[in-house]
Amino acid sequence: MRIGLGTDIHALEPGDGLHLGGVRIPCAYRARAHSDGDALLHAFVDAIYGALALGDIGEHFPDAADANHGRDSGEFLLEALKSMRNLGFRLGNVDTVIHLQRPKLSGYKLPIRRHLATLCEVPEALISVKAKSGEGIGPVGRCEAVSTQAVVLLVPEAD
Ligand code: MG
Repeated sequence: MRIGLGTDIHALEPGDGLHLGGVRIPCAYRARAHSDGDALLHAFVDAIYGALALGDIGEHFPDAADANHGRDSGEFLLEALKSMRNLGFRLGNVDTVIHLQRPKLSGYKLPIRRHLATLCEVPEALISVKAKSGEGIGPVGRCEAVSTQAVVLLVPEAD
């Protein structure tokens, strides 16, 4: 078995919505980013690469590359999953946390889980999405940032 940890943070600026876990969340912000700024997918991808000891997301998808400008981060996840399968592993489970002050994410957690389960081709029971506010303090609490964490367990395909 392999365990992997991923984290991400993006600054928020005025805009018309966020992408989190491949789900569009209408709100008064957008994430400042080279890609679509999906901090949850970025943490998930980094966790998979971490479990495989294959470096970090920036090595695989440099933010200086024009090809990654505005890119759907779901494509990063599909690439990471391909690497996982090529090395003989499958997703055991993933647990994630989104730290965001506003909007409240309670109504989005299930759609995000379902979308991630579809991308990963696993039951949604293997995908956990948790949300926390910033309690009004720090960059998250001041609505200046969204931050995320993900932990994955990869199991050998044969198990
Ligand atoms: Mg990112």
